Amino acid sequence: MKTYAYGFPRLGKNREFKSAVESFWKGNLSEADTKKALDGIQANMLGIYEQNIDNFPIGEITGYDNMLDTAIMVGLYQPKNLKEYYELCRGKDALEMTKWFNTNYHYLVPNFSLIKNPNFSFTANKSSAYYKQFKKGLPFLIGPFTFLKLSKGIPANKFNDYLLQLAEIYKTILNDLPHVHIEEPALVMDLTSTEIATFKQAYKIIGASKSKINLITYYDSVDCLKELYDLPVSAIGLDFANGKKNLEIIKKAGFPKDKTLIAGVVNGRNVWRNDIGASVKLLDALAKIAPSLIVSNGAPLYHLPISLEGEKLDAALTQKLAFAKEKIQEIKTIAKAFETKKIPSMAAEKYFGLNKAVQKAVKALTDKDFVKAVSFEKRKALQKKLLNLPLFPTTTIGSFPQTEEVRRQRADFRSGKITEKQYNAFVQTKIQDVIKFQEELGLDVLVHGEFERTDMVEFFAQELDGIATTKAGWIISYGTRVYRPPMIYGDISRPKPMTVKEIAYAQTLTKKPVKGMLTGPVTIIAWSFVREDVPISDVAYQLGLALRDEILDYEKAGIKIVQVDEPAIREKAPIKRKDWPQYFDWAIKSFRLATNTDPKTQIHTHMCYSEFGEIVGQIDQMDFDVISIETTRSKGDIIESFEKIDFKKQIGLGVWDIHSPAVPKVEDMREVVKRALKVIPKENFWINPDCGLKTRKWEETRATLKNLVTLSAEYKKS
Ligand code: GLN
Ligand code: ZN
Repeated sequence: MKTYAYGFPRLGKNREFKSAVESFWKGNLSEADTKKALDGIQANMLGIYEQNIDNFPIGEITGYDNMLDTAIMVGLYQPKNLKEYYELCRGKDALEMTKWFNTNYHYLVPNFSLIKNPNFSFTANKSSAYYKQFKKGLPFLIGPFTFLKLSKGIPANKFNDYLLQLAEIYKTILNDLPHVHIEEPALVMDLTSTEIATFKQAYKIIGASKSKINLITYYDSVDCLKELYDLPVSAIGLDFANGKKNLEIIKKAGFPKDKTLIAGVVNGRNVWRNDIGASVKLLDALAKIAPSLIVSNGAPLYHLPISLEGEKLDAALTQKLAFAKEKIQEIKTIAKAFETKKIPSMAAEKYFGLNKAVQKAVKALTDKDFVKAVSFEKRKALQKKLLNLPLFPTTTIGSFPQTEEVRRQRADFRSGKITEKQYNAFVQTKIQDVIKFQEELGLDVLVHGEFERTDMVEFFAQELDGIATTKAGWIISYGTRVYRPPMIYGDISRPKPMTVKEIAYAQTLTKKPVKGMLTGPVTIIAWSFVREDVPISDVAYQLGLALRDEILDYEKAGIKIVQVDEPAIREKAPIKRKDWPQYFDWAIKSFRLATNTDPKTQIHTHMCYSEFGEIVGQIDQMDFDVISIETTRSKGDIIESFEKIDFKKQIGLGVWDIHSPAVPKVEDMREVVKRALKVIPKENFWINPDCGLKTRKWEETRATLKNLVTLSAEYKKS
């Protein structure tokens, strides 16, 4: 049995991608040397594939994002050099960023409404160039259908036309290549029959080229699979790890004799070891339907850290894990086991870290735990009296700049260079500074700055039992930004208060309210690797209970406002709409469980960088009091959506895109507020940035928040 792998992380073992690109941004690396560094990373990826795997793509490396590279390939953007390229990624008029399918990878969204009469034309294709340079691998392309489907601003009556134009360009590219790897994950979305028909038309054009095509899908099942059978492609890749229904579909539809099935059985989205016996069984079943069968990963491997090498995790946990490199080994092992029918023995299937008391508490939950005793309107009145906030209250989303100093102190604490007492004292000085900073600027609701947190999920993972964290399990969330997803391996409980000390301390320093800051259950789940032996709703309620205890402790410490961040609520939603009700049921309930405390406590939530327009109804059901939501990158589209549902809650629409180092002017921010006030009553309106400020610099932060407060003052007077 032949093997296939794709999507190996581009980050590099020592995060070489990040250091090269960021050095270029700082002006410390020339364009030529940056390109050389990227080439080196591509070569390393190829090396790993080549040593282990029969078939693999080439050209997956990008300077920032492959959706952008595709847009450039077809002539939509024409950066003349690397500097202009990065302007598109993070300059003043950068492309909007949104989450790639239901993952936490953010791609840059080509926006056709900003491109007058798109004039598609083939420029250059990096995968072809790499192929010519390295003479191996299958040139990687994002397919034209996925490209258009994930772009925005395409008039409905133009989609077909654009797709067929792109098909001609792809055909030209393919004419030069013997065999390509084209990813069309959009095939797993809910598609209309018109879309499927256009897809087929496009691939008939592309398939008329001289090249063989491997058409790769992932993240879910391809419901229109049968429709693809008469297309001129030589192989179809299906994800059997994340698209469990694929097996059912293929059993019904059969598989064409002239095509190869690339069976994704090793999960690229979760860290648990493959059950080799089960995979071989699956392949046996598939082989009966599709005799030409190749084994591969299901979903790209870049959702995983690179390797377990060098991690010092609990030995029992390590036995259950496989990161990207280990997954590649698993693909090999499965191919061998399929042929020899010798199944290597596995670590016992049992999970550990089980906690009977937590399991019992979840079982004992009733409707009352999920429904607040006091209505939103009554809570609003109670809180108004208690908080006495001005109109157009200003606040931030939580974090303040995480400077080198903050990171160094944390590293020193971890490595034992400074004591816990010294570290806590340091965090306290930062809290003093940031409270003073906010008071001087004149913000209305203050935060403690989150200096003690590396990351909004990892921090809680380290405080909670039942979740493990890694030393170097980095993955890219966007551009060069990386994070280390924790691993939820057992029952979750809170051994002691997690954040109360810092928040309560901050509150002693000011008369203004300080917001308690927590990360919500859905986001902790979405940005972690989650155990698969219990329903995900159980995991969510376990988190909900732990967070509820934390809020109850805040209340005892005199905290009056609490923000529970759920930026991942949209991203975690299943790709197919039919799976939404089940998901939103536990997602909404876990939030309501966590925040079902004293009705006088004003509950905020925060969301960002996703298409929230289509889930405002579900968001409303979370029953918070105030929401802050990112607005800048989507140019305020979200505002209209709230109008549609007659949204009664308080809302802060972000006026500052925190992903960009640019300092917005008062008039830039006024535009957002002006537009919002057409829809939202002024007594419900807050003024805040799009997201946390941890990646920004202090100068930018000071200048922008000053403008933000000026703007609020202007409205307060009016
Ligand atoms: N409170 C978090 C912060 O400010 C929220 C971050 C996020 O939404 N991604 O950093
Ligand atoms: Zn955010």
